[in-house]
Amino acid sequence: MNTVPMIRLNDGHSIPQLGFGVFQIPSAATEQAVGRALDVGYRHIDTAEMYANERGVGRAVRASELDRADVFITSKLSNGAHRPDDARRAFERTLSELGSRYVDLFLIHWPLPTLYDGDFVSTWQALEEFHRDGRARSIGVSNFTVEHLERLLAESDVVPAVNQIELHPYLVNAELREYGEEHGIATEAWSPIAQGAVLDDPVIVAIARRLGRKPAQVVLRWHLERGSIVFPKSTTPARMAENFAIFDFQLAPDDIETIAALDRGEDGRTGPNPDAFAHVPA
Ligand code: NDP
Repeated sequence: MNTVPMIRLNDGHSIPQLGFGVFQIPSAATEQAVGRALDVGYRHIDTAEMYANERGVGRAVRASELDRADVFITSKLSNGAHRPDDARRAFERTLSELGSRYVDLFLIHWPLPTLYDGDFVSTWQALEEFHRDGRARSIGVSNFTVEHLERLLAESDVVPAVNQIELHPYLVNAELREYGEEHGIATEAWSPIAQGAVLDDPVIVAIARRLGRKPAQVVLRWHLERGSIVFPKSTTPARMAENFAIFDFQLAPDDIETIAALDRGEDGRTGPNPDAFAHVPA
């Protein structure tokens, strides 16, 4: 049974709060992994052109017994396609790879402030076009800092529906989350279990023991209770099921704060700093 809460976005659309991420799943293995995830009950898949596996996502959805409308699919613009004409072509590529006339959510994957003359605003205006013509039901950004969001809000019309950022107990990213709350931008937490790095933490392990749960379930529950949207990745069937079985228990009120206090700030990052990241695929 799918008991995943829906989060209402600032444009009126709703997104399942728990999904399945496919970063680093090889293209040839993606259809099977996503098919399994759909069988477990996941109805939200997070992919990107740069993951090179959008086709497998689309195939798995078509091969399932679900309707396209039953599955929420997010994809993201490649770092190599920020110029508006390139973004238009890249978006069409994404739809074609997915085999769908629309995507539920389309994001600028990285702000790339040191590339393209620091102009992510014209890129965003291309996404606004996709939103207007209905091919991107919702649009948002990823890895944007408060400074980047302030500039976007000042210089464009549509407020992003989401900001997808690195967020887990070692990188709590409080200021950015608060900024999102104040401006109606939902926060999506990428690498929600820090790719496994937080699972051996004694604080998490102790809470998991007390509740009779797995550390990953405790961390995912922490995200949900704080209102973030998550999509853990696993290609291990038992973990896919474990990560989905988080709707029949609750953390104690103190646990939320105790876990947030594990924050290591910048030292807690597992991925790149968005102000410096400038990778463009060959
Ligand atoms: P996660 O925090 O989801 O961790 C994934 C890793 O943890 C895998 O090695 C997986 O192993 C392992 N794992 C998963 N579940 C469990 C469990 N229950 N117990 C123990 N180990 C577990 O990292 P990701 O970086 O994949 O982040 C999730 C998603 O976020 C991505 O797939 C992608 O969709 C998105 N993302 C977005 C980024 C962006 O820039 N916008 C950047 C990075 C990620 P195994 O598969 O072997 O089971």
